[in-house]
Amino acid sequence: MRAEEKHATVAAEAGSDTPVIDLREGRKTYRSGEIEFEALRGVDLTVTEGEYVAIMGPSGSGKSTLMHVLGCLDVLTSGSYRLGGEDVEKLSEVELAEVRNRRIGFVFQQFHLLPSLSAWRNVELPMIYGKVDRTERRERAEIALGRVGLSDRLHNRPGELSGGQQQRVAVARALAGDPTMILADEPTGNLDSASTEDVLTLFDELHEAGRTIVLITHEHDVASRARRIVSVRDGRIHADEAVTA
Ligand code: ADP
Ligand code: MG
Repeated sequence: MRAEEKHATVAAEAGSDTPVIDLREGRKTYRSGEIEFEALRGVDLTVTEGEYVAIMGPSGSGKSTLMHVLGCLDVLTSGSYRLGGEDVEKLSEVELAEVRNRRIGFVFQQFHLLPSLSAWRNVELPMIYGKVDRTERRERAEIALGRVGLSDRLHNRPGELSGGQQQRVAVARALAGDPTMILADEPTGNLDSASTEDVLTLFDELHEAGRTIVLITHEHDVASRARRIVSVRDGRIHADEAVTA
């Protein structure tokens, strides 16, 4: 398994054999009134530093639920989740928010940019919560927007940008805090094919630079850009395969 050997090398070079993601027997049950639904039914998943993993599955299979758990936006009903060696179940709400801010860069299908703020103000925002000082925020926002090719759009609001450019602002926002991992849920779901290619090229570059990326998608073409594809069906991992070039 060439790809797995490569993953091991990346992790070793990073000087860490602690997995970024270590999920064991993860179960998530949603309850609304009398009705219960088990969206995750015993998921084991390990992701090491520097891996680029796609999580694939049909609509309703539990991908977003899994992303919410991995991103500390929601907690498991049972099982254990360690993020960068940290036991997530033991953390309070405030600590969870802190872990999210420090370790995870989120990219969503709907971009989630604030329409009244310029590109650089949007990128700066999570760093305000992260208590980064003003000068450094501005500097990091400009660098991040430069990395996604938007140095000439710092002062434009989302409404003045194309969908692809808006998603690149969202990627810059995810990067600016220097997170351990990028977690993207259907990031190309609202993009045309040219913008999809732009965003996926950006992810390729981030992967080459050693970032850990978890990309959720239901499209095979998008998933095959990753180095490993984890398939989810009915709340369970159905397959976990290295992508062969
Ligand atoms: P995917 O992202 O793969 O489409 P989701 O994780 O969003 O799947 O949903 C998995 C299953 O859990 C679906 O059947 C969905 O209806 C159910 N589900 C998701 N969120 C909730 C919720 N908050 N309350 C009840 N059921 C939910
Ligand atoms: Mg979803």
